[in-house]
Amino acid sequence: MTIKDIFERFDRIGSCTFATVDGDYPETRIAHFLAHDDEGLYFMTMTTKPFYRQLKETGRVSVCGLGASSAVTQREDGLLEMEPGYSIRVSGDVREVSMEEIRAKNNPAFDYCIEDVERYPAMTTFVLYRAKGEIFDYDFDMLHRDHKLERERFSFGGFPVEKAGLTITEACVGCGKCMKACTFKAIRREGERCVIDGSRCDECGNCWKVCPAGAVRHKGA
Ligand code: SF4
Ligand code: SF4
Repeated sequence: MTIKDIFERFDRIGSCTFATVDGDYPETRIAHFLAHDDEGLYFMTMTTKPFYRQLKETGRVSVCGLGASSAVTQREDGLLEMEPGYSIRVSGDVREVSMEEIRAKNNPAFDYCIEDVERYPAMTTFVLYRAKGEIFDYDFDMLHRDHKLERERFSFGGFPVEKAGLTITEACVGCGKCMKACTFKAIRREGERCVIDGSRCDECGNCWKVCPAGAVRHKGA
């Protein structure tokens, strides 16, 4: 995914959760990305806020959002129901961008930054310039396709990305119990063994629980 693709997914959601660390504790607030270019994703805050201090002290932020609806209902059978949608998250390194830099871009996408600083002089802009993230496109009731999840990991600015999903090792004896346990339809047979399609895997752990050979490698500590 390009930075533009990532921006558009966040922009479709609008307000998202921005997390930073303040000393020993994480803190969150609602904000939004307002622009993008080849360097990264841009957002604003005020220099008088804890958010600003935390960004300057740590140089890091993590952002997530949920679209199209955050409504979760409970069915008669007790299971939770969410209409199809996606969540997206991104975490990485930020730097403050001066107004001189913003003006020099000569890019209409940044007009809002310039206007906002005129209205609120304590406003300042940050760019998320090196990051990794993931999109979870879910359809838990399989209304529009025959599997629940399509996930895609991405990065920009040279951030390394870990492969999504659990994995099955060579210890697999091909009994097929994991396939039956996987409600995400993420496991298929390949020759004598089973393999996991990481783009469909929710990392729920059902396959790890039932495997008699200890062949499923999970990501827990
Ligand atoms: S349950 Fe374990 S041993 Fe059986 S097919 Fe799946 S990974 Fe292989
Ligand atoms: S962790 Fe869950 S979703 Fe992933 S392959 Fe195993 S059972 Fe399927």
